[in-house]
Amino acid sequence: MSGLYVPLAGPDGTRTDHAENVLAPNPSEMTLEGTNTWVIGTTDVVVVDPGPDDESHLCRVAEHIGGRRVTEILLTHGHHDHSGGARRFAELVGAPVRALDPRHTLGAEGLSDGDVIEVGGLELRVYGTPGHSFDSLCFWLPADRAMLTGDTVLGRGTTVIAHDGNLADYLRSLDLLRATAEELEAETLLPGHGPALADPVFALDGYLAHRRQRLDQIRAARAAGARTPREIVEIVYADVDQALWHAAEMSVRAQLDYLDRL
Ligand SMILES: [Zn+2]
Repeated sequence: MSGLYVPLAGPDGTRTDHAENVLAPNPSEMTLEGTNTWVIGTTDVVVVDPGPDDESHLCRVAEHIGGRRVTEILLTHGHHDHSGGARRFAELVGAPVRALDPRHTLGAEGLSDGDVIEVGGLELRVYGTPGHSFDSLCFWLPADRAMLTGDTVLGRGTTVIAHDGNLADYLRSLDLLRATAEELEAETLLPGHGPALADPVFALDGYLAHRRQRLDQIRAARAAGARTPREIVEIVYADVDQALWHAAEMSVRAQLDYLDRL
């Protein structure tokens, strides 16, 4: 059985048997405590999401890796808080960068659904999970029964559908992850932000229920006469901190787009 160790102080240092988080120092409303950079492997390692272009963070990740060889740098998606430091980190450790979007790939082939990455006797399986962004991927680490979810599932709160994302795709990806987690008996979700989650099926059911509830609320707000995204936010997200209303408005636009295409 693989164990999940979650430090009391926050996601920095969270680890399973073969994965460990080095937290980037970029906390915000959108990134929670910061971006989780995952180092995976024992003798050889892959690094998932080097994080923003922050020299102190990239050096800390390299120090954490020590004398081990970095075979590949993988991106869960191209958003800056995950990919911004990839080019510099590739220089630091002499490894290629692989992502779904060719614009983020450097010195190696891109990644797509079904690919298998091998590192020092471990496997990482690539799942295409578009929705949060068009290029979102998840990585399954069978040795630890752990799924790295990027921003498709966060350790806390909910995921925003970004400008380059799509809600219909996102709902399909959540369904896929939920079915996969059940079939593979996943024990842990290792997200791109926030703490690890110890009950994947429960967490994914919560995500799906939340999405359905929000869609119902938006239908109801429209039925009550709300027209603009802002008017809908004021009704549906009344219980949410106003600092998050900008993100909520983006989410409402994605949901209106989805409902109008049904
Ligand atoms: Zn992110």
